[in-house]
Amino acid sequence: MPDTERDLIPVVDYSRASADKARDEHTVEDQQRVNARTAARLGCRIVHRFKDNDKSAAKEGVVRDDFEEMLRVIRAGRLADGTPVMGVIVTADDRLVRRAGDYERFVDALTYQDGRVYADARGFKDLYSEDVESMGLMGAVFARMEVKKTRRRVRRWHQSRAERGIAPAGPRPFGWQADRVTPDPVEAALIRRAVEEAIAGRSMNSIVREWQRNGVKTPRGNDWLQGPFKKMLKNPRLCGWRMINGELVTDGGTPVQGDWEPLITPDQWQALQAIFQARSGHQVSTDGQPLYLLDRDHREHRYLLSGILRCGRILEDGSMCMARLRVSMQPDRSAHRYFCRAKTNGGCGSLSRRGDKIDEFVSEAVLAKLEERTIAAQKDSGPWLGEKELNDYQEQLKELRKHWAARQISNSLFFEESRRLEGDISRLRAERQQYAAAQQKATTDMADVRRRWYLPEEEGGLPISTKRTYVKEALHAVIVHPAGKGHGAGKRFNPDLLEPIWRED
Ligand SMILES: [Zn+2]
Repeated sequence: MPDTERDLIPVVDYSRASADKARDEHTVEDQQRVNARTAARLGCRIVHRFKDNDKSAAKEGVVRDDFEEMLRVIRAGRLADGTPVMGVIVTADDRLVRRAGDYERFVDALTYQDGRVYADARGFKDLYSEDVESMGLMGAVFARMEVKKTRRRVRRWHQSRAERGIAPAGPRPFGWQADRVTPDPVEAALIRRAVEEAIAGRSMNSIVREWQRNGVKTPRGNDWLQGPFKKMLKNPRLCGWRMINGELVTDGGTPVQGDWEPLITPDQWQALQAIFQARSGHQVSTDGQPLYLLDRDHREHRYLLSGILRCGRILEDGSMCMARLRVSMQPDRSAHRYFCRAKTNGGCGSLSRRGDKIDEFVSEAVLAKLEERTIAAQKDSGPWLGEKELNDYQEQLKELRKHWAARQISNSLFFEESRRLEGDISRLRAERQQYAAAQQKATTDMADVRRRWYLPEEEGGLPISTKRTYVKEALHAVIVHPAGKGHGAGKRFNPDLLEPIWRED
Protein backbone atom coordinates (compact mmCIF):
# COMPACT_ATOMS: atom_id res chain seq x y z
CA MET A 1 0.00 0.00 0.00
CA PRO A 2 1.85 3.02 -1.27
CA ASP A 3 0.17 5.52 1.03
CA THR A 4 1.07 3.68 4.21
CA GLU A 5 4.52 3.03 2.84
CA ARG A 6 5.03 6.73 2.32
CA ASP A 7 4.11 7.38 5.95
CA LEU A 8 6.80 5.04 7.22
CA ILE A 9 10.01 6.69 8.43
CA PRO A 10 12.91 5.89 6.09
CA VAL A 11 15.82 4.52 8.09
CA VAL A 12 19.00 2.53 7.61
CA ASP A 13 20.03 -0.32 9.84
CA TYR A 14 23.45 -1.29 11.00
CA SER A 15 24.75 -4.73 12.06
CA ARG A 16 28.12 -5.89 13.12
CA ALA A 17 29.67 -9.29 13.88
CA SER A 18 33.04 -9.54 15.54
CA ALA A 19 35.90 -11.52 14.08
CA ASP A 20 35.43 -14.46 16.38
CA LYS A 21 32.26 -16.03 15.03
CA ALA A 22 32.48 -19.05 17.29
CA ARG A 23 31.97 -16.78 20.27
CA ASP A 24 29.82 -14.08 18.75
CA GLU A 25 26.22 -15.18 18.74
CA HIS A 26 25.15 -12.04 16.96
CA THR A 27 25.56 -12.87 13.31
CA VAL A 28 24.76 -10.12 10.87
CA GLU A 29 21.78 -12.11 9.53
CA ASP A 30 20.29 -12.51 13.02
CA GLN A 31 20.63 -8.81 13.69
CA GLN A 32 19.07 -7.88 10.39
CA ARG A 33 16.04 -10.07 11.18
CA VAL A 34 15.65 -8.35 14.56
CA ASN A 35 16.05 -4.92 12.97
CA ALA A 36 13.38 -5.68 10.40
CA ARG A 37 10.93 -6.59 13.18
CA THR A 38 11.87 -3.43 15.12
CA ALA A 39 11.32 -1.30 12.03
CA ALA A 40 7.92 -2.84 11.40
CA ARG A 41 6.89 -2.38 15.00
CA LEU A 42 7.99 1.26 15.16
CA GLY A 43 6.63 2.34 11.80
CA CYS A 44 9.96 2.56 10.02
CA ARG A 45 11.08 1.40 6.62
CA ILE A 46 14.64 0.17 6.11
CA VAL A 47 15.95 1.75 2.91
CA HIS A 48 19.51 0.49 3.17
CA ARG A 49 21.46 -1.98 5.29
CA PHE A 50 24.97 -1.32 6.54
CA LYS A 51 26.99 -4.19 7.91
CA ASP A 52 30.54 -4.80 9.13
CA ASN A 53 31.54 -8.42 9.26
CA ASP A 54 34.56 -9.68 11.19
CA LYS A 55 35.03 -6.32 12.88
CA SER A 56 35.61 -5.56 16.49
CA ALA A 57 34.15 -2.24 17.55
CA ALA A 58 36.54 -2.05 20.44
CA LYS A 59 39.97 -2.45 18.93
CA GLU A 60 41.88 0.68 18.16
CA GLY A 61 42.76 0.97 14.50
CA VAL A 62 40.06 -1.32 13.12
CA VAL A 63 38.31 0.60 10.37
CA ARG A 64 34.66 -0.31 9.95
CA ASP A 65 33.95 0.80 6.40
CA ASP A 66 30.17 0.53 6.58
CA PHE A 67 30.03 2.29 9.92
CA GLU A 68 31.97 5.22 8.45
CA GLU A 69 29.79 5.23 5.33
CA MET A 70 26.67 5.17 7.49
CA LEU A 71 27.90 8.23 9.44
CA ARG A 72 28.24 10.12 6.14
CA VAL A 73 24.77 9.01 5.04
CA ILE A 74 22.94 9.99 8.21
CA ARG A 75 24.76 13.31 8.38
CA ALA A 76 23.71 14.08 4.81
CA GLY A 77 20.23 12.70 5.45
CA ARG A 78 20.16 10.78 2.17
CA LEU A 79 21.69 7.88 0.34
CA ALA A 80 23.94 8.42 -2.68
CA ASP A 81 20.90 7.99 -4.97
CA GLY A 82 19.02 10.70 -3.08
CA THR A 83 16.75 8.43 -1.03
CA PRO A 84 16.00 10.28 2.22
CA VAL A 85 17.27 8.73 5.45
CA MET A 86 15.70 9.84 8.71
CA GLY A 87 17.24 7.48 11.24
CA VAL A 88 19.12 4.36 12.27
CA ILE A 89 18.07 1.04 13.74
CA VAL A 90 20.37 -1.39 15.51
CA THR A 91 19.71 -4.41 17.74
CA ALA A 92 21.68 -2.93 20.65
CA ASP A 93 24.09 -0.09 21.36
CA ASP A 94 27.04 -2.40 21.58
CA ARG A 95 26.60 -3.47 17.95
CA LEU A 96 27.01 0.15 16.98
CA VAL A 97 29.86 1.36 19.16
CA ARG A 98 32.14 0.14 21.85
CA ARG A 99 34.32 3.20 22.07
CA ALA A 100 33.22 6.51 23.53
CA GLY A 101 34.71 8.46 20.63
CA ASP A 102 32.68 6.52 18.06
CA TYR A 103 29.51 7.08 20.03
CA GLU A 104 30.08 10.82 20.06
CA ARG A 105 30.68 10.85 16.30
CA PHE A 106 27.51 8.86 15.79
CA VAL A 107 25.39 11.18 17.94
CA ASP A 108 26.90 14.19 16.16
CA ALA A 109 26.02 12.80 12.75
CA LEU A 110 22.52 11.72 13.66
CA THR A 111 21.53 14.93 15.44
CA TYR A 112 23.06 17.09 12.68
CA GLN A 113 19.48 17.83 11.68
CA ASP A 114 16.30 17.78 13.71
CA GLY A 115 13.71 15.03 13.62
CA ARG A 116 15.98 12.02 13.21
CA VAL A 117 15.21 8.76 14.95
CA TYR A 118 17.35 6.14 16.56
CA ALA A 119 16.06 2.82 17.83
CA ASP A 120 17.26 -0.48 19.16
CA ALA A 121 15.30 -3.67 19.72
CA ARG A 122 13.69 -2.15 22.80
CA GLY A 123 12.39 0.94 21.06
CA PHE A 124 13.19 4.55 20.19
CA LYS A 125 15.89 6.45 22.02
CA ASP A 126 15.96 10.21 21.99
CA LEU A 127 19.54 11.19 21.16
CA TYR A 128 18.65 14.90 21.22
CA SER A 129 18.11 14.87 24.94
CA GLU A 130 21.34 15.67 26.72
CA ASP A 131 20.54 13.34 29.54
CA VAL A 132 20.19 10.32 27.33
CA GLU A 133 23.27 11.33 25.46
CA SER A 134 25.38 11.32 28.57
CA MET A 135 23.91 8.00 29.59
CA GLY A 136 24.66 6.61 26.20
CA LEU A 137 28.19 7.88 26.39
CA MET A 138 28.55 6.32 29.78
CA GLY A 139 27.23 3.13 28.33
CA ALA A 140 29.92 3.29 25.70
CA VAL A 141 32.60 3.98 28.29
CA PHE A 142 31.30 1.13 30.32
CA ALA A 143 31.21 -1.19 27.32
CA ARG A 144 34.82 -0.25 26.69
CA MET A 145 35.69 -1.25 30.24
CA GLU A 146 33.86 -4.52 29.71
CA VAL A 147 35.90 -5.17 26.60
CA LYS A 148 39.08 -4.51 28.52
CA LYS A 149 37.91 -6.80 31.25
CA THR A 150 37.23 -9.54 28.73
CA ARG A 151 40.66 -9.16 27.24
CA ARG A 152 42.15 -9.27 30.70
CA ARG A 153 40.14 -12.35 31.56
CA VAL A 154 41.36 -14.16 28.47
CA ARG A 155 44.94 -13.18 29.20
CA ARG A 156 44.55 -14.36 32.76
CA TRP A 157 43.08 -17.59 31.60
CA HIS A 158 46.14 -18.21 29.46
CA GLN A 159 48.37 -17.16 32.26
CA SER A 160 46.70 -19.28 34.86
CA ARG A 161 46.95 -22.28 32.59
CA ALA A 162 50.62 -21.51 32.40
CA GLU A 163 50.79 -21.13 36.16
CA ARG A 164 49.18 -24.49 36.63
CA GLY A 165 51.60 -26.06 34.22
CA ILE A 166 49.02 -26.88 31.53
CA ALA A 167 50.70 -24.85 28.82
CA PRO A 168 54.46 -25.02 28.33
CA ALA A 169 55.53 -23.02 31.32
CA GLY A 170 59.31 -22.97 31.49
CA PRO A 171 61.25 -24.41 34.38
CA ARG A 172 59.65 -24.99 37.75
CA PRO A 173 59.81 -22.09 40.20
CA PHE A 174 62.68 -22.27 42.67
CA GLY A 175 61.42 -23.56 46.01
CA TRP A 176 58.88 -25.99 44.58
CA GLN A 177 59.07 -29.45 43.08
CA ALA A 178 58.34 -30.20 39.42
CA ASP A 179 54.57 -30.26 40.10
CA ARG A 180 54.92 -26.53 40.96
CA VAL A 181 52.71 -27.10 43.99
CA THR A 182 54.70 -29.07 46.56
CA PRO A 183 57.59 -27.25 48.25
CA ASP A 184 61.07 -28.60 47.69
CA PRO A 185 62.28 -29.13 51.25
CA VAL A 186 65.83 -27.92 50.69
CA GLU A 187 65.04 -24.91 48.50
CA ALA A 188 62.03 -23.91 50.57
CA ALA A 189 64.21 -23.81 53.67
CA LEU A 190 66.79 -21.70 51.84
CA ILE A 191 64.11 -19.23 50.78
CA ARG A 192 62.61 -18.99 54.24
CA ARG A 193 65.97 -18.30 55.81
CA ALA A 194 66.89 -15.78 53.14
CA VAL A 195 63.58 -13.97 53.63
CA GLU A 196 63.95 -13.83 57.40
CA GLU A 197 67.46 -12.51 57.08
CA ALA A 198 66.58 -9.97 54.43
CA ILE A 199 63.78 -8.67 56.62
CA ALA A 200 66.23 -8.46 59.49
CA GLY A 201 68.36 -6.22 57.29
CA ARG A 202 70.93 -8.52 55.69
CA SER A 203 71.91 -7.30 52.26
CA MET A 204 70.63 -9.28 49.27
CA ASN A 205 74.15 -9.22 47.93
CA SER A 206 75.57 -11.07 50.85
CA ILE A 207 72.82 -13.70 50.73
CA VAL A 208 73.43 -14.28 47.04
CA ARG A 209 77.15 -14.62 47.68
CA GLU A 210 76.45 -17.19 50.36
CA TRP A 211 74.25 -19.17 47.95
CA GLN A 212 77.01 -19.03 45.37
CA ARG A 213 79.55 -20.22 47.94
CA ASN A 214 77.29 -23.13 48.90
CA GLY A 215 76.65 -24.16 45.30
CA VAL A 216 72.92 -23.38 45.31
CA LYS A 217 71.68 -23.44 41.70
CA THR A 218 68.66 -21.97 39.91
CA PRO A 219 66.12 -24.41 38.42
CA ARG A 220 67.98 -24.00 35.13
CA GLY A 221 71.17 -25.09 36.85
CA ASN A 222 72.92 -21.73 36.96
CA ASP A 223 74.60 -19.90 39.80
CA TRP A 224 72.36 -17.36 41.45
CA LEU A 225 72.83 -13.70 40.58
CA GLN A 226 71.37 -10.61 42.22
CA GLY A 227 68.80 -9.87 39.52
CA PRO A 228 67.04 -13.25 39.40
CA PHE A 229 67.30 -13.49 43.17
CA LYS A 230 65.49 -10.21 43.72
CA LYS A 231 62.95 -11.08 41.08
CA MET A 232 62.20 -14.27 42.95
CA LEU A 233 61.71 -12.42 46.23
CA LYS A 234 59.43 -9.89 44.56
CA ASN A 235 57.14 -12.62 43.27
CA PRO A 236 54.06 -12.98 45.51
CA ARG A 237 53.96 -16.65 44.53
CA LEU A 238 56.17 -17.09 47.59
CA CYS A 239 53.25 -16.30 49.90
CA GLY A 240 50.65 -18.04 47.76
CA TRP A 241 49.36 -15.02 45.88
CA ARG A 242 48.94 -14.85 42.15
CA MET A 243 50.73 -12.35 39.98
CA ILE A 244 49.94 -11.85 36.31
CA ASN A 245 52.04 -9.57 34.14
CA GLY A 246 53.64 -8.04 37.19
CA GLU A 247 50.32 -7.27 38.83
CA LEU A 248 48.84 -8.84 41.90
CA VAL A 249 45.60 -10.58 40.98
CA THR A 250 42.90 -9.46 43.35
CA ASP A 251 39.24 -10.08 43.76
CA GLY A 252 37.75 -6.84 45.00
CA GLY A 253 41.01 -5.90 46.69
CA THR A 254 41.68 -9.29 48.24
CA PRO A 255 44.61 -11.15 46.68
CA VAL A 256 43.63 -14.31 44.85
CA GLN A 257 45.13 -17.40 46.40
CA GLY A 258 46.98 -19.82 44.13
CA ASP A 259 46.64 -23.57 44.45
CA TRP A 260 50.25 -24.17 45.44
CA GLU A 261 51.69 -24.32 48.94
CA PRO A 262 53.11 -20.97 50.04
CA LEU A 263 56.65 -20.82 51.45
CA ILE A 264 56.32 -17.64 53.51
CA THR A 265 53.50 -15.61 55.02
CA PRO A 266 51.84 -12.65 53.27
CA ASP A 267 53.16 -10.42 56.09
CA GLN A 268 56.70 -11.53 55.37
CA TRP A 269 56.27 -10.98 51.67
CA GLN A 270 54.86 -7.51 52.22
CA ALA A 271 57.69 -6.70 54.60
CA LEU A 272 60.13 -7.66 51.85
CA GLN A 273 58.39 -5.43 49.33
CA ALA A 274 58.57 -2.55 51.78
CA ILE A 275 62.31 -3.11 51.91
CA PHE A 276 62.63 -3.16 48.14
CA GLN A 277 60.59 0.02 47.91
CA ALA A 278 62.69 1.70 50.56
CA ARG A 279 65.87 0.68 48.78
CA SER A 280 64.67 1.94 45.47
CA GLY A 281 64.64 5.37 46.99
CA HIS A 282 61.22 5.83 48.54
CA GLN A 283 62.65 6.62 51.87
CA VAL A 284 60.05 6.32 54.49
CA SER A 285 60.51 8.54 57.44
CA THR A 286 61.58 7.99 60.79
CA ASP A 287 59.19 6.79 63.44
CA GLY A 288 61.56 4.00 64.37
CA GLN A 289 60.00 1.86 61.67
CA PRO A 290 62.12 -0.61 59.79
CA LEU A 291 62.89 1.44 56.79
CA TYR A 292 66.37 2.27 57.93
CA LEU A 293 66.95 -1.09 56.38
CA LEU A 294 68.44 0.72 53.50
CA ASP A 295 72.11 1.30 53.17
CA ARG A 296 71.99 4.62 51.48
CA ASP A 297 75.22 4.34 49.64
CA HIS A 298 74.61 0.68 48.72
CA ARG A 299 78.25 -0.03 49.35
CA GLU A 300 79.35 -3.21 50.99
CA HIS A 301 81.12 -2.17 54.17
CA ARG A 302 83.72 -4.42 55.65
CA TYR A 303 83.79 -2.79 59.05
CA LEU A 304 81.02 -2.30 61.53
CA LEU A 305 81.28 1.44 62.03
CA SER A 306 82.96 3.02 59.04
CA GLY A 307 81.00 6.09 58.07
CA ILE A 308 79.02 5.91 61.31
CA LEU A 309 81.72 7.20 63.66
CA ARG A 310 82.43 10.91 63.55
CA CYS A 311 85.40 12.88 64.68
CA GLY A 312 84.79 14.83 67.89
CA ARG A 313 87.92 16.92 67.84
CA ILE A 314 87.40 20.63 68.49
CA LEU A 315 88.95 22.68 65.72
CA GLU A 316 90.74 25.98 66.10
CA ASP A 317 87.62 27.96 65.29
CA GLY A 318 85.82 26.22 68.16
CA SER A 319 83.60 23.99 66.01
CA MET A 320 83.66 20.23 66.08
CA CYS A 321 85.33 18.40 63.18
CA MET A 322 82.48 15.85 62.72
CA ALA A 323 84.10 14.21 59.68
CA ARG A 324 83.15 10.56 59.14
CA LEU A 325 85.95 8.28 60.32
CA ARG A 326 87.59 5.90 57.89
CA VAL A 327 89.30 2.57 58.49
CA SER A 328 92.93 1.62 58.17
CA MET A 329 94.77 -1.56 59.14
CA GLN A 330 97.57 -1.68 61.67
CA PRO A 331 100.87 -2.13 59.90
CA ASP A 332 101.04 -5.73 61.16
CA ARG A 333 97.43 -6.26 59.96
CA SER A 334 96.47 -7.52 63.40
CA ALA A 335 93.70 -4.98 63.95
CA HIS A 336 91.89 -2.10 62.32
CA ARG A 337 91.82 1.53 63.34
CA TYR A 338 89.30 4.28 62.73
CA PHE A 339 90.86 7.58 61.78
CA CYS A 340 89.94 11.09 60.70
CA ARG A 341 91.16 11.80 57.20
CA ALA A 342 93.67 14.50 56.39
CA LYS A 343 92.59 18.11 56.05
CA THR A 344 92.95 17.87 52.30
CA ASN A 345 90.30 15.15 52.35
CA GLY A 346 87.81 16.95 54.52
CA GLY A 347 88.94 15.82 57.99
CA CYS A 348 91.24 17.23 60.63
CA GLY A 349 93.78 14.45 60.30
CA SER A 350 94.42 14.23 64.01
CA LEU A 351 92.24 11.49 65.49
CA SER A 352 92.80 7.74 65.37
CA ARG A 353 91.46 4.99 67.58
CA ARG A 354 91.65 1.19 67.93
CA GLY A 355 88.76 -0.37 66.06
CA ASP A 356 88.04 -3.57 67.91
CA LYS A 357 87.31 -1.88 71.24
CA ILE A 358 85.01 0.69 69.68
CA ASP A 359 83.19 -1.98 67.68
CA GLU A 360 82.64 -4.03 70.80
CA PHE A 361 81.41 -1.15 72.90
CA VAL A 362 79.05 0.20 70.27
CA SER A 363 77.75 -3.32 69.56
CA GLU A 364 76.83 -3.80 73.20
CA ALA A 365 75.21 -0.41 73.44
CA VAL A 366 73.19 -1.02 70.28
CA LEU A 367 72.10 -4.53 71.33
CA ALA A 368 70.94 -3.19 74.71
CA LYS A 369 69.02 -0.41 73.00
CA LEU A 370 67.35 -2.78 70.55
CA GLU A 371 66.40 -5.23 73.30
CA GLU A 372 64.82 -2.42 75.22
CA ARG A 373 62.89 -1.31 72.17
CA THR A 374 61.75 -4.80 71.22
CA ILE A 375 60.25 -5.28 74.65
CA ALA A 376 58.50 -1.93 74.44
CA ALA A 377 57.26 -2.64 70.91
CA GLN A 378 55.87 -6.03 71.82
CA LYS A 379 54.04 -4.51 74.75
CA ASP A 380 52.06 -2.02 72.77
CA SER A 381 51.78 -3.66 69.38
CA GLY A 382 48.29 -4.69 68.41
CA PRO A 383 46.41 -5.22 65.20
CA TRP A 384 46.69 -2.52 62.57
CA LEU A 385 43.98 0.04 63.28
CA GLY A 386 43.25 1.04 59.72
CA GLU A 387 41.66 -2.24 58.63
CA LYS A 388 38.08 -1.10 59.13
CA GLU A 389 38.66 2.20 57.38
CA LEU A 390 40.27 0.40 54.44
CA ASN A 391 37.35 -2.03 54.17
CA ASP A 392 34.89 0.84 54.31
CA TYR A 393 36.60 2.64 51.45
CA GLN A 394 36.74 -0.54 49.38
CA GLU A 395 33.04 -1.12 49.98
CA GLN A 396 32.25 2.44 49.00
CA LEU A 397 34.20 2.10 45.80
CA LYS A 398 32.36 -1.11 44.95
CA GLU A 399 29.02 0.57 45.63
CA LEU A 400 30.02 3.52 43.50
CA ARG A 401 30.96 1.30 40.60
CA LYS A 402 27.66 -0.51 40.89
CA HIS A 403 25.70 2.74 40.74
CA TRP A 404 27.74 3.93 37.83
CA ALA A 405 27.29 0.68 35.94
CA ALA A 406 23.56 1.01 36.54
CA ARG A 407 23.77 4.58 35.22
CA GLN A 408 22.49 6.07 38.42
CA ILE A 409 25.26 8.65 38.77
CA SER A 410 26.98 10.97 36.36
CA ASN A 411 30.40 10.45 34.85
CA SER A 412 31.97 13.43 36.54
CA LEU A 413 30.70 12.40 39.95
CA PHE A 414 31.89 8.86 39.37
CA PHE A 415 35.40 9.78 38.28
CA GLU A 416 35.87 12.42 40.93
CA GLU A 417 34.66 10.17 43.73
CA SER A 418 36.49 7.09 42.57
CA ARG A 419 39.73 9.03 42.26
CA ARG A 420 39.35 10.20 45.84
CA LEU A 421 38.52 6.72 47.13
CA GLU A 422 41.33 5.09 45.20
CA GLY A 423 43.74 7.60 46.71
CA ASP A 424 42.60 6.79 50.22
CA ILE A 425 42.74 3.09 49.54
CA SER A 426 46.27 3.13 48.22
CA ARG A 427 47.43 5.31 51.10
CA LEU A 428 45.96 2.86 53.61
CA ARG A 429 47.40 -0.13 51.77
CA ALA A 430 50.85 1.44 51.97
CA GLU A 431 50.30 2.05 55.68
CA ARG A 432 49.29 -1.54 56.22
CA GLN A 433 52.35 -2.75 54.39
CA GLN A 434 54.61 -0.63 56.56
CA TYR A 435 52.84 -1.84 59.64
CA ALA A 436 53.29 -5.46 58.60
CA ALA A 437 56.96 -4.79 58.04
CA ALA A 438 57.29 -3.16 61.42
CA GLN A 439 55.50 -6.02 63.16
CA GLN A 440 57.69 -8.54 61.45
CA LYS A 441 60.73 -6.64 62.50
CA ALA A 442 59.63 -6.28 66.07
CA THR A 443 59.17 -9.99 66.46
CA THR A 444 62.63 -10.83 65.19
CA ASP A 445 64.20 -12.71 67.99
CA MET A 446 66.60 -10.37 69.66
CA ALA A 447 68.23 -13.19 71.61
CA ASP A 448 69.12 -14.80 68.31
CA VAL A 449 70.52 -11.54 67.04
CA ARG A 450 72.73 -11.22 70.10
CA ARG A 451 73.94 -14.80 69.78
CA ARG A 452 74.82 -14.42 66.12
CA TRP A 453 76.33 -10.96 66.49
CA TYR A 454 79.76 -12.22 67.50
CA LEU A 455 79.86 -15.46 65.50
CA PRO A 456 81.85 -15.63 62.26
CA GLU A 457 79.62 -15.51 59.20
CA GLU A 458 80.63 -19.05 58.21
CA GLU A 459 79.19 -20.35 61.49
CA GLY A 460 75.87 -18.60 61.11
CA GLY A 461 77.02 -15.24 62.37
CA LEU A 462 75.37 -12.05 61.15
CA PRO A 463 77.00 -10.48 58.12
CA ILE A 464 78.46 -7.02 58.58
CA SER A 465 75.68 -5.53 56.42
CA THR A 466 73.01 -6.82 58.80
CA LYS A 467 74.83 -5.59 61.87
CA ARG A 468 75.31 -2.18 60.30
CA THR A 469 71.59 -2.09 59.67
CA TYR A 470 70.88 -2.69 63.32
CA VAL A 471 73.40 -0.07 64.32
CA LYS A 472 71.91 2.50 61.97
CA GLU A 473 68.45 1.63 63.11
CA ALA A 474 69.45 2.41 66.67
CA LEU A 475 71.57 5.51 66.21
CA HIS A 476 72.40 8.33 63.86
CA ALA A 477 76.11 8.41 64.62
CA VAL A 478 78.70 7.98 67.31
CA ILE A 479 80.95 10.92 68.07
CA VAL A 480 84.47 9.89 68.99
CA HIS A 481 85.96 12.48 71.32
CA PRO A 482 89.72 12.86 71.44
CA ALA A 483 91.53 11.15 74.25
CA GLY A 484 93.68 14.07 75.18
CA LYS A 485 97.37 14.08 74.43
CA GLY A 486 98.90 11.37 72.28
CA HIS A 487 95.69 10.57 70.37
CA GLY A 488 94.87 7.96 72.99
CA ALA A 489 97.32 5.52 71.49
CA GLY A 490 98.43 2.96 74.03
CA LYS A 491 96.00 4.28 76.62
CA ARG A 492 93.23 2.31 78.22
CA PHE A 493 89.97 2.31 76.30
CA ASN A 494 87.64 4.89 77.76
CA PRO A 495 84.00 4.41 76.74
CA ASP A 496 83.14 7.88 78.05
CA LEU A 497 84.88 9.28 75.01
CA LEU A 498 82.24 7.70 72.76
CA GLU A 499 78.99 9.60 72.43
CA PRO A 500 76.19 7.74 70.66
CA ILE A 501 73.54 9.95 69.08
CA TRP A 502 70.47 7.71 69.45
CA ARG A 503 67.53 7.89 67.17
CA GLU A 504 64.46 9.12 68.96
CA ASP A 505 62.42 6.37 70.60
ZN1 LIG B 1 88.62 15.16 62.69
